[in-house]
Amino acid sequence: MPQRFLTSWRLPASCAALLLLGGAVGWLTGTVWPCVTVVALGETVVLLSLFRHKSGPMLQSSATPHPDHDRLMTRTRRIASRLRDLRSAAGTLPDAVVLLDHSHHVRWFNHAAEDLLGLKRPRDRGRVLADLMRNTDLSDWLAEGAREPLNDVTAPGHPNRHVTATLLPFGSRQRLLLARDTSHLTRLEQIRRDFVANVSHELRTPLTVIHGYLELLDPEDVPELAPVLDEMRAQSKRMGQIVEDLLTLSRLETQEHVADEQVQMAPLLASLRKEAEALSQGRHTISLDVATAHDLLGSPKDLHSAFSNLVSNAVRYTPTGGKIAIRWADTEDGARFSVHDSGFGIPAAHIARLTERFYRVSSSRSRDSGGTGLGLSIVKHVLNLHQARLVIESETGKGSVFACVFVSDRLLDSTRVHETAGLHG
Ligand code: ADP
Repeated sequence: MPQRFLTSWRLPASCAALLLLGGAVGWLTGTVWPCVTVVALGETVVLLSLFRHKSGPMLQSSATPHPDHDRLMTRTRRIASRLRDLRSAAGTLPDAVVLLDHSHHVRWFNHAAEDLLGLKRPRDRGRVLADLMRNTDLSDWLAEGAREPLNDVTAPGHPNRHVTATLLPFGSRQRLLLARDTSHLTRLEQIRRDFVANVSHELRTPLTVIHGYLELLDPEDVPELAPVLDEMRAQSKRMGQIVEDLLTLSRLETQEHVADEQVQMAPLLASLRKEAEALSQGRHTISLDVATAHDLLGSPKDLHSAFSNLVSNAVRYTPTGGKIAIRWADTEDGARFSVHDSGFGIPAAHIARLTERFYRVSSSRSRDSGGTGLGLSIVKHVLNLHQARLVIESETGKGSVFACVFVSDRLLDSTRVHETAGLHG
């Protein structure tokens, strides 16, 4: 039907004429059919006229496009093109990107996700991500809710690569999995570790020789050099200690698990107290408070080294006359070893960085007291290997509390002697 006819006055006029004609023919001939046919035709035209009235702009647009329609089309095209750009940009990102719906079904992923996570297109679209990552570090992490980023794990699609994964919420309960290829950083970290371990190892022998000769020299033979000799001995001892601490750190860093041995706390605590007294030489009041009969499960040597570091710090950073308390007690869901001192304390700004290697609040105080700056780093690594954490509370001028908090999985009943094999199976 011509467009002009639909949009002009002729349409309603034609409707009326047809209705009249139908009625007249029916009345004149006395038959119903011409009347019905013409009325039906009339109604069709009326309906068309109504349709024209309701959707006028649409009908008009097919012949002479409406300006709104043009604008809408341009916008739609622009949005579609932006979406295409975004998608192709996300597609070429070096990091794996996976879009998940609210029930963790895979909706979309980029090329890096195929490479790093081993996803396949179109096979894996619509499948649950945890099922696709089965038997990898990522599957446990996803099953546990993936609340924290997962650092440096083997890429499921590439055994020689490492990834750091993060799960971000977006939209309405959707998730975005990002997995960054950290192989390069891991390699650099490995190079750094090897370098430090090799240098420390190489320094060990010459230092032992120097230290040995210094011990042989008797200050009484050369009294004028006595202070120099003392200083040389102290410094060579310190260097030896730094080398030993660096080697301990290298070992702890490369270690993934600790031995599951029973660590008997009663004798360990008694020996820590003796060490504190020996170091303090009567300058402090030292107490031991044992409130639980629990033992620990782990490496006796490493735990002794960590606890002993905390005790020695408390003695070294507490002025004469101060108090030091060693405590071992149950908590709601585990147990806590803590060392309390009434020493110098630590300004709040430094607390978060204390476990970094060679980080010191006061370098001169640390050196004067024979510190290497590596003690708390060692403590942190030992605790990580035991799934424990270090909690530090301190107030300048009042003192500090260094606490090692263990989860109940690491506790053993000290009244029973445990078989070490299979304790954690
Ligand atoms: P260091 O060998 O220097 O003691 P650590 O790693 O053991 O190295 O400790 C790092 C720094 O933390 C120390 O240099 C010191 O400034 C601070 N620190 C550690 N323990 C205490 C404490 N009990 N009281 C005050 N400061 C402390």
